[in-house]
Amino acid sequence: HATDARDLARVAGSFALRGDVQSVEPYGDGHINTTYLVCTDGPRYILQRMNTDVIPDTAALMRNIELVTGFLHAQGQETLTLVPVRDGGSWLDDPTGAWRMYEFIEDTVSYNLVEDADVFRRAGAAFGAFQRSLAAFDASGLAETIAHFHDTPSRFADFQAAVTRDEVGRAASCRRDIAFFMAHADEYGTVTDAMRDGRVPLRVTHNDTKLNNILIDARTGRPRAIIDLDTVMPGSLLYDFGDSIRFGASTALEDEQDLSRVHFSLPLFRAYAAGFLGAAGDDVTDDELELMPLAARLMTMECGMRFLGDYLSGDAYFATAYPEHNLVRARTQIRLAQEMEEQADAMAQAIHDVTAGRAA
Ligand code: ADP
Ligand code: MG
Ligand code: MG
Repeated sequence: HATDARDLARVAGSFALRGDVQSVEPYGDGHINTTYLVCTDGPRYILQRMNTDVIPDTAALMRNIELVTGFLHAQGQETLTLVPVRDGGSWLDDPTGAWRMYEFIEDTVSYNLVEDADVFRRAGAAFGAFQRSLAAFDASGLAETIAHFHDTPSRFADFQAAVTRDEVGRAASCRRDIAFFMAHADEYGTVTDAMRDGRVPLRVTHNDTKLNNILIDARTGRPRAIIDLDTVMPGSLLYDFGDSIRFGASTALEDEQDLSRVHFSLPLFRAYAAGFLGAAGDDVTDDELELMPLAARLMTMECGMRFLGDYLSGDAYFATAYPEHNLVRARTQIRLAQEMEEQADAMAQAIHDVTAGRAA
């Protein structure tokens, strides 16, 4: 997917920049899009070739981003600012790919890893503020750019099909892991059912709450903007909350081979919940609060069954560095989910403690 310098200069020049382009260089450590820093004799910009394998419908994706950033700008909230194409439109459909341009958000830093509880608490606050700013936004206007993204029952159906096919003959070597996901089948519909019957409201879901998608003010240390809005979709606040806990409240990496090092951290859970609920305010409903501990476990099991399903399908989806990589990943998720189950009461108590100050 290399694009030569002349193409890059031409593509950059297609956008309504305030300045003459001086350089276009690869930038950042994102894994989905191809990102470039554009320097001009005026402001700096971020140019991205969008990954159309992950999200094929660029028009729908860009419309989602326009709707969400437009709403946030109207609220006075700092967010991504699209730079239009000179000929009109918010993105460039070019033979070299689908491109868009953002104003560069200056003077920020971001984290890749949860270094301590305070970093994680601030991440929670950033996503809580994101939800509060979008509380009045009608998420039903957003397109579902990846169908059934956090539809856990549908993910489970895919998993069961992979077990049945046993395409590469690996099922016999992971019977206990398969049994774990089968044993929890009655729980997978909890959030989707609650949304269907209206107990849990439809909201904007970010769907990629990695720490490096939060830009933090370099001087004050406060979250400035949530970026990487490609996977913004209609969904539940519980999906983002649960997935953040899944990757952030673990004592080890997602692919740690030594399971004795993999634990669910209640202090990290409490820190994120405190940050999130402190910033999201009273807008989070009682039903959502009640489902937050379960949502963490649900997102962990959903991710685990995707890893195990991919292992059983010969590693077709997730990139692997060695043959057992997806199995190792599935096992860390199972371990985390088991510990969350054991600590369910303590998690519920933590949510209760954080919200104790709310009006009864
Ligand atoms: P990916 O989906 O590949 O992760 P991102 O949209 O997150 O792509 O962009 C990759 C990186 O580029 C980010 O982690 C961030 O460092 C940087 N970045 C993206 N947009 C901006 C922006 N508007 N201002 C400053 N940096 C940005
Ligand atoms: Mg990113
Ligand atoms: Mg992304």
